[in-house]
Amino acid sequence: MRKFDVPNKFRSELITKIKLERKQNDRMKRDFSPTILNYSNVTFYLSRHFGFCFGVENAIEIAYKTLNENQGKRIFLLSEMIHNPEVNKDLEENGILFIQDTYGKNLIDWEEITSEDIVIIPAFGTTIFTENILKEKGINPLQYNTTCPFVEKVWNRSREIAQNNFTTIIHGKAQHEETRATFSHTEVHGKAITILNLDEAKFLAEVILGSKSEKEFYEKFGTKISENFDVNNDLIKIGVVNQTTMLAEETLEITEYLREIMIKKFGIEKISEHFADTRDTLCYATNDNQTATKELLKSDANISIVVGGYNSSNTTHIVKILDEKMPTYFIKNESEIKSKSEVHFFDIHTKTMKVDLEFLSKYQFPKIALTAGASCPDSEIEKVINKIISFYN
Ligand code: SF4
Repeated sequence: MRKFDVPNKFRSELITKIKLERKQNDRMKRDFSPTILNYSNVTFYLSRHFGFCFGVENAIEIAYKTLNENQGKRIFLLSEMIHNPEVNKDLEENGILFIQDTYGKNLIDWEEITSEDIVIIPAFGTTIFTENILKEKGINPLQYNTTCPFVEKVWNRSREIAQNNFTTIIHGKAQHEETRATFSHTEVHGKAITILNLDEAKFLAEVILGSKSEKEFYEKFGTKISENFDVNNDLIKIGVVNQTTMLAEETLEITEYLREIMIKKFGIEKISEHFADTRDTLCYATNDNQTATKELLKSDANISIVVGGYNSSNTTHIVKILDEKMPTYFIKNESEIKSKSEVHFFDIHTKTMKVDLEFLSKYQFPKIALTAGASCPDSEIEKVINKIISFYN
């Protein structure tokens, strides 16, 4: 895989060494078991896969290159480039300004942006609407574009199936930057609908099979369908793609489920006319991180720590997987670990910060499953390890 020029501050000598050794011993990526780091009093089960993925490294390389090449110019990022506070903070400290927040709300008025400015498109991509605003201002949206190639692959497949009159069902969070971008790029070529989970797929299935009415469909999905969506015609040919950071397993489950529904309605012999095969659009990094996380569940770890941005979708899904089996602490960085007996962490269920005043002190020799999201620098993981071992001489 291509090597990217990422600032050293985001790298870690320790983690690089571990990743390299695992890679050399398992070139085909068959072994997803964790790496065991034994420090006598504390043991870490370090996930086989975590940290910067291809798309994130690509985005970081472009962003810092843009900074170097355009000194003296105003440089804007359309929104957070990736969902990691350390990376975004560093970019801001280097003078980059964010035009929008995660939900597309402007933090800087479009009036203030001129053709003299540099605007970087984040790794999630952006909507056609925003691309057009930039074009009208004389800014080429493709010049500093960090959209991940795996996100573009989803857009390309959506375009292909839309050209054959298939409606694209996007498994994603309707408000997430990437889903908004995918929806927008799909809508140009055909019809689209966003569903959040299997429950919504089941609702859709009832509409397809006729046990739910047109009215119920529009009430449920009215804000998540493309313009002029016609429930009677636009659910005859469908295909499923996803927001690349959703649970890959859930996307596959939804895909298989809807395929079965289409078989029920149109028969197996006609299935290829009614259901598009889109499985090749799943992101490798999300898949590998989630597979490696499931391997962590097989360890005898007492607790798990997941490092990443609290608004990061892929990190939240990793937390969800671990949280079902063991106490899991979702922290943005090592500063949330105050001492052996105090940690501040994000609760994904209540979406609030919580404090645990026992943390590691409950265990004589803690065993910790440790991993991070695809946008978390390796340096942050090393800092967590160092902080924890500092409590144990
Ligand atoms: S998680 Fe996948 S799609 Fe998202 S930026 Fe990384 S490689 Fe690209």
